[in-house]
Amino acid sequence: MRVRQTRSPHRFRTEAEFVQWLRRQTTVAARALRLGIGDDAALVRPARNRDVVLKADLSIEGVHFARDIHPARAVGHRALARPLSDVAAMGGTPRFALLSLAMTEEVNRAWIEQFYAGFRALAERAGVALIGGDTAISPAQMMADVMVVGEVPRARALRRSGARPGDQIFVTGRLGASALGLRLLRSPRHSGRAPQARAAVRAHLYPEPRCALGRYLLVHRLASACIDISDGLSIDLHHLCEASRVGAWVWEELIPTAGGPLASRPEALSLALEGGEDYELLFTVPPRWAGRVPARWAGVPLTRLGEIRRPRGVTLIAADGHARTLQPSGYDHFRPRSPRSARPASQKASAGAGLEASSRRRTGDRTPHAAHQLGQLGASPMKL
Ligand SMILES: [Mg+2]
Repeated sequence: MRVRQTRSPHRFRTEAEFVQWLRRQTTVAARALRLGIGDDAALVRPARNRDVVLKADLSIEGVHFARDIHPARAVGHRALARPLSDVAAMGGTPRFALLSLAMTEEVNRAWIEQFYAGFRALAERAGVALIGGDTAISPAQMMADVMVVGEVPRARALRRSGARPGDQIFVTGRLGASALGLRLLRSPRHSGRAPQARAAVRAHLYPEPRCALGRYLLVHRLASACIDISDGLSIDLHHLCEASRVGAWVWEELIPTAGGPLASRPEALSLALEGGEDYELLFTVPPRWAGRVPARWAGVPLTRLGEIRRPRGVTLIAADGHARTLQPSGYDHFRPRSPRSARPASQKASAGAGLEASSRRRTGDRTPHAAHQLGQLGASPMKL
């Protein structure tokens, strides 16, 4: 949706008016919340025997979203979905969110309201209360920084580092759907009528973080390690293996892909391995418990696609038995860009506790390799 430019910048006359409007947006009643929006800061009281899970994610216009492709509602949804997915991957229960929004002068009040509507709808479903943040007018592009605060039973959080040789590797959902959806959104020929096309576009615009499923894996002590697939199966499986100091074998024909008639199997595989932004969970299960993993959970398929091995590296095994090394391939903020997708050096990924190297799919900003792949699929490079 292209937002009409307007003279009156954002149409909230004062910051006080905006904050007052914002307070009305918070409808989730949170038990642990002592004080919400309105004072200098929010107050929460953590429950006993719980660890607090913290995650922040940036959503930057031209990097993570484009206003001519992503409706405001989807931008708000996705800005919250990203940190929620990370909390889900820890087996955590999200409780609170802080949202800092930098708006440009050309964005009107309707866009802001739709952004918050998307944010709020997901927050309500996830049981998350918006308890604070900041707002400012940006001279450059739009930017949202969302921090989610969650909780997890003490010392029980699912981590990337717990996988052991012999553990079975599972994923939730169908991989590559989001990248396929983006490809359709960017295609002038896209009619969006086929059910598979609608599902892919929806997976891209409104990804569903697997919070309840993460909790299920934790409560039933099924997963030895877990990560969310934000950057593509190949790169996120490497992250898990590196953290666990192990390797993996993956059987190509077991990878659950998206697309049906919209993509050939090699295309669908490429999207699954490198597409990113699926926000599904990748988890490992000790062999003696693998049989207890249901084929579906709350309508979401859980698929076994490989096994953890001691030798480092990830090996992809084709249907004919041919094995090849799978290189981590997906979006990386630090990787050199092709001139076409060059970005200012201001894109900083964060590092340190609670801040993974800014987890990604920067829409339209791909590695030359991935751009080539999408070129083969008929997608036009995003003009950003
Ligand atoms: Mg993650």
